[in-house]
Amino acid sequence: MTVTGVDILITGYPGVSPSNGGMGWSSVGLVRTGERIVLVDTGPFGARDLLRRRLAEHGVAPDEVTDVVLTHCHHDHSVNWTMFPNARVYVSRIEMEWALRVPHGEGPVPELYVRELASSPATTLLEDGDEIVPGIRAELVPGHTPGSLIVTVDHEDTRTIFLGDAAKNRAELVCRRADATLDAPLSRDSIARIWTRWEEVPNTTVIPGHDLPMGLIEGECHYQAVRQTSVQARLSADFDDLTTFDLSET
Ligand SMILES: [Zn+2]
Repeated sequence: MTVTGVDILITGYPGVSPSNGGMGWSSVGLVRTGERIVLVDTGPFGARDLLRRRLAEHGVAPDEVTDVVLTHCHHDHSVNWTMFPNARVYVSRIEMEWALRVPHGEGPVPELYVRELASSPATTLLEDGDEIVPGIRAELVPGHTPGSLIVTVDHEDTRTIFLGDAAKNRAELVCRRADATLDAPLSRDSIARIWTRWEEVPNTTVIPGHDLPMGLIEGECHYQAVRQTSVQARLSADFDDLTTFDLSET
């Protein structure tokens, strides 16, 4: 049983809204082996319909997903674990212990979903370096949260690393500095660890929690996809008049 395919179902976006708060537009990955259908992160509530559609485009129904790996417990990555009734749900033990201690009403942990996850028979707690299925390994990268994970997928001679929010975007990777972290020095160490994993296998793709996939060309970090992000708004009194704002870089 080896990895047969890696796809990005939803691509994250490195933005926040100063007027309306964090958007939580995060990356969701799909990894398949001969027998298992694995999701890496689940997106925020607003991604549910899109996620169902993207799964359907890949011929997958939610009840066919066998494994869901959560890079960390923030709502925009974890809250949709309930969409997958037959999946084992993986989260790091350190993350779960921390998330349960976060006072309700503080920060981006969805308190009630985390409490439910902690008592669910579907939950499996991971330690640093655990193999989830053959070819898919979790590694602790604390900082953004105490039990954040990266998920490394080795597939033939290529490697894909889902970064969660250990490095949320290209700027954090290149500058080796993280925003919105609980521990900035730990985040720096974790980003250094990501670079080690990135550079040790040629043709490795990294997928940050809130950005496009990237690869290295002669040591330089390059996007491997074109951003296609937009917002539609109903700003006039005409019901049929939708204004589209393109959020892709020019
Ligand atoms: Zn996030």
